[in-house]
Formats: sequence, structure tokens, C-alpha cells
Amino acid sequence: MGGTAQTLRPFLWRAAKLHSDTEIVSRTGRGIERYDYEGYERRVGQLANALADAGIDSGDRVATVCWNHHWHFETYFGVPSYGAQLHTINPLLPDHHVEYIVENAEDKLLFVDASLIEKIEAVADSPSLSSVEQYVVMGDAVPETNLDPVTDYESFVEGHDTEYDWPSLEDDTPAGMCYTSGTTGKPKGVEYTQSMLWGHTMATLTPQGLEFDESDVIMPVVPMFHVNAWGMPYSATAAGAKHVYPGPAPEPADLAKLIEEEGVTFTAGVPTVWLGLLEYLEENDADLSSLERIVIGGSAAPEAVIRQFDEKYDVEVLHAWGMTETSPIGTVSHLKSKMDDWDADRQYEKRGKQGLIAPGLEFKVVGDDGGEVPWNGEDFGEMYIKGPWVTQEYFERPEANEADFEGEWLKTGDVVTVDEEGYVQIVDRAKDVIKSGGEWISSLELENALMAHDDVAEATVVGVPHERWQERPVAFVVPVEGTDEDELREGVLASIREEYPRWWAPDEVVFIDEVPKTATGKFDKKVLREEYDDQSLVEGAVPEDAAPDE
Ligand code: ADP
Repeated sequence: MGGTAQTLRPFLWRAAKLHSDTEIVSRTGRGIERYDYEGYERRVGQLANALADAGIDSGDRVATVCWNHHWHFETYFGVPSYGAQLHTINPLLPDHHVEYIVENAEDKLLFVDASLIEKIEAVADSPSLSSVEQYVVMGDAVPETNLDPVTDYESFVEGHDTEYDWPSLEDDTPAGMCYTSGTTGKPKGVEYTQSMLWGHTMATLTPQGLEFDESDVIMPVVPMFHVNAWGMPYSATAAGAKHVYPGPAPEPADLAKLIEEEGVTFTAGVPTVWLGLLEYLEENDADLSSLERIVIGGSAAPEAVIRQFDEKYDVEVLHAWGMTETSPIGTVSHLKSKMDDWDADRQYEKRGKQGLIAPGLEFKVVGDDGGEVPWNGEDFGEMYIKGPWVTQEYFERPEANEADFEGEWLKTGDVVTVDEEGYVQIVDRAKDVIKSGGEWISSLELENALMAHDDVAEATVVGVPHERWQERPVAFVVPVEGTDEDELREGVLASIREEYPRWWAPDEVVFIDEVPKTATGKFDKKVLREEYDDQSLVEGAVPEDAAPDE
């Protein structure tokens, strides 16, 4: 009966044995750093010994606030294989979200990039961070800081034994954690167990997943603070592939250079990144000949992007869908072999959809009447999903569990159609949120901030389509009679900018006489969205430094 538990450790053990000299490359503030799996495994061993020395117990949470680099990757195996839980925190969140997240997770140790240290310094004195017993700064030397006690990463691991006696863990040992701000209200914690990450890794390796092999050179551009960089640090290791980490806030020029110099075959990220690269390639020469595939997900991949990569650069775009709750790969848009001889337009029509369910998962589409809708490409409903790497609950959030799960099913909040061939297409979002450049903006929080203003009678915030960021927030405000609109616009924008990251600020504040309402008296955003579904409203309005990925 049975085998040993499904855990991450054997993936690294195998890579270090079979592909010991395959490289891990990292773009850092100090330039390119590289070592091989053998060197990586030694560092991971040192990290585990350092965790023990720092008093970390199995089950403790260890947080990271870091970009994509080899130090962050060391925590990816070092922390969960030690038996602790790796909690990746998104540094682009508003400060009060970071405070809530650290308090809720009770993180004991926190790794932070030198370049992101201000984010943590801003909240470090809050009682919410009182669980943090030590800060470790990755990257350059520790700057003058109010973090205490603090050490730098190299000193933290230095001198420790490279061998570690790895514990036997269970399938359900918590291994990872990531908060999602997807829906309204406070961010919700998703815990990944060892077996969830194991299952997700194995599915990713299959041809129906991302089909990784040891010959691949894999560059995760999607941040490692987003659902484990879509699991790639684990799946690339399981394949024994070369890793390339693009470092802090990579520009299109950095990505093009890494692809060219490191021979990247596979990369992945949100549409905004690839639109930026295409734009860069219009003006600059770069040799992308090594690149075979790009996974685009997080927001809908525009068909024009899929076509351009294909036609101009001979790069296959795989459109994928997933959520923090699904670890995240849920669907991938592969063509079925019988479609090989279809004409290009018919193929793009399929490839532009979010795709086919990954092997191991199940889904259903539930219509307004509570029944399942047929797979005819037209009828739509909310997608429910379940499977070994789909979470069954949020961390300590009973009210969210009540709302977002039905038995084993996770209600995704995505409204989809499924065609006769089983291709899922997202047609709408049941959850009232805005996703800009791959990052969430809570319309509810913005609405509350607007309505806190004395001269605002009513306000609502709507996501408007945007070519570069996919969506941008636009505020619709009913002013109190007699208010100076220009002053009010400046006033509300200034107060939002004070409390939230710059890129949360609405691109436009549109004054209206009344917010349209549904029959039950709720704000009818559909009406506003349809009325203002006009690119020119927001095109070009976003300041460069407002970019969520910068
Ligand atoms: P991630 O951004 O890593 O996919 P999140 O949990 O932050 O994870 O966001 C998940 C949500 O993002 C989905 O429920 C869906 O609304 C949206 N999403 C993800 N992938 C796509 C896609 N390919 N097309 C359209 N929307 C997507």
C-alpha cells in the first residue's frame, strides 16, 4: 500500500544528481551571477542549517519580499524542504495589506530585497509585524535601516554546513503560502501543501501542461511573489532544466538580452510584459532564435500578441489560465492534433481561448439557474474547479470559505463558455475587481476612499479595457451640489495616492448625475462599463512610473 509522501525534495535531489552542472543564472544589482545545481543544492543545505540556527521550527512561516533571483530561488526549496512554510509577499500591495498579511500569517523570519527594503521599513514598527523575529536582506549590503534585528543573506548562510539531514514530510505538510487580493475585502491566504506543489509540478511537466525538459532554458518573468512564479522554479528543477531569473523589475531590453545571451527557450508572464517586448523589438534588434514558447496568463492574451510572436519570431504562445487558489495552472490552450491542418484563423481562434483543463483537474460551468451549462461555445456560467492542487479553503477566513467554495468545488468568479472541443473561454468576471498589468486593484476599496470625501455624494469605480495594462480603473463620481469639480478631482486623487500605490489611482474621474442602479438598488457597473468602453478614455493616460510591474 502506498509510497512515500509527495514532496518537493526529490525534485532537487534528482536535478543535483543527474544535471549537476546545469546552470542557474540570475540577474542581480551586481550583474549576472551563476552557479549549477550542485552549487545550488549546497547553498540550499546551508540555508536549512541557517534556519535551524535562527530557531525556525517546522511549521513556522518564513516570508519573502523579493524579486526573481537565485537567492529567492534558494528559499523555494530551502524553506519547504526544511519543513517550514514559504510565504511569498507581493511588494506592490498597499502598505496596510502587507501589514494585514504578515499579521495574519504570523511570519517569523522575513527575507527582503535591499531594493524593496523601504516597503518593509514603512510598516516595520506596526504591531502587526511583531511576530517577525529577524529580517534578512538579500542582494547588496544592508543599508541604514530601522529593521531590527537584521542581517544580510550572505552572512546568514555563511559558514553553515552544506549538507542537511532533510526531514521526512507528509503530503499535507504546509509548504507554501500566497495571499490573493482578487476579490473585495482583505487579502485571503492560500496555503500550498507539499503534495499540492508536487501534483502541480508533475502536471506542468506533461505535454498537456508546459512540457518542460532538461534541454529547456526556463526564464520565469512572472514574479516569484505571484503563485510561486506559476510553479516554474519547481517544474524547471523537476525537469533538470537551466533556470534564468531576470532580477529586479526587468525592462524589455533586459529580457531580450537574457534570451539572447542565455539561450532562453521558455518564458512566461502577463500580457503587459510581452506587449512591452514586442514594442521594444520594433525598434531594436535582438536574436530571439532560441525562444520556443511563451506562456501568457494572468489576464487574457490578446490574439494579436499570439499572432505576432508566431508570425514574426516563430515563437509559440501558450495561453494559460489559473488562480492563486489553483497553484496556479488550470487550463492551457494547446491545439489538439486533429487541428494541425486547420487554417491559421481557425487555429488562432482556439489558441486565443484560455484552453483545455490540465490533466488531474475537473471543472464545471454553472449557469444562473444553478444547473450546468452545455459545452456549445455560447452558453456561459461561472467556472467551478477542483483537483489535487486546487485549495479547499482560505487560511482562517470562514466567511470567504462560505462564499467561494461549494463542497470540494472552488467557485472561480470567472464567467466562461466552453466549446464542443472543451476549450474554456473567459467572457466576464463575476468578481468585482480590476486587474491592471497583472496586479489587482480593489474597486471596493477605491469606492470607499472616494465616498469618504465630504463632497462626494456617490461614487463607483469600473475597470475599463486598456491596450497595455488590460484594464485601468475609472472613477464615476456624483458630486455634492455646488462642488467645484476640478478641485474635487484633485482632492480625491491626492487622497487615494496617499493611501495606495500610485498605480491604484483612477486614470479618469468622470462626474455624473447619478450612478445607474439595478432593480435591487445596487450600482449597475455594466451600464457604465458599456457606456465608457472606449480606449481613448484611458489610452496613454497612465504615467510610466505608475506601472505595477516596475
Ligand atoms: P494569477 O494572476 O497568477 O493568474 P490571481 O489569483 O492573482 O492569479 O488571479 C486569478 C484571476 O486572474 C483569474 O480568476 C482570472 O480572473 C484572471 N486570469 C488569470 N489568467 C487569465 C487569462 N489567461 N485570461 C483572463 N483572465 C485570467
